[in-house]
Amino acid sequence: MPKLIPVADELSKPFWDAVNAKRLVLQRCTGCSKLQYPPQKTCQVCGNAALEWKEVSGKGHIATYIVIEDGRLNRRMPDQPYNLALITLDEDPTVNFYSNLPGTPPYKVPVGAAVEVTFEDVAPGQLIHEWCVVN
Ligand SMILES: [Zn+2]
Repeated sequence: MPKLIPVADELSKPFWDAVNAKRLVLQRCTGCSKLQYPPQKTCQVCGNAALEWKEVSGKGHIATYIVIEDGRLNRRMPDQPYNLALITLDEDPTVNFYSNLPGTPPYKVPVGAAVEVTFEDVAPGQLIHEWCVVN
């Protein structure tokens, strides 16, 4: 399935550098310890601008999902229908990711199931993070 190729900016570069090394890192507030994703300039809870990068385990659960049948993203139209699941991170379930759940057929998503992060090649030297159901 063709994926969107990420364009890293100054804020997200540490995240994508880690993904390219098959590691999942999130911003962690040095004030209140909140993890957050996607990267932002300040803590979404307390506004602290002192954020550090912390590696997380890459384990999560499927909160809910939809199936994209009639999306308008041209690149992805040939793949329709495809899953779009909302993943909660086990270390902090308020941190969410979207996933196409590679390996899980459309409409067959086991809501509540455990998932773990995986990394897929999307371009030379560029990986992206995805999530797969743990069997
Ligand atoms: Zn904070």
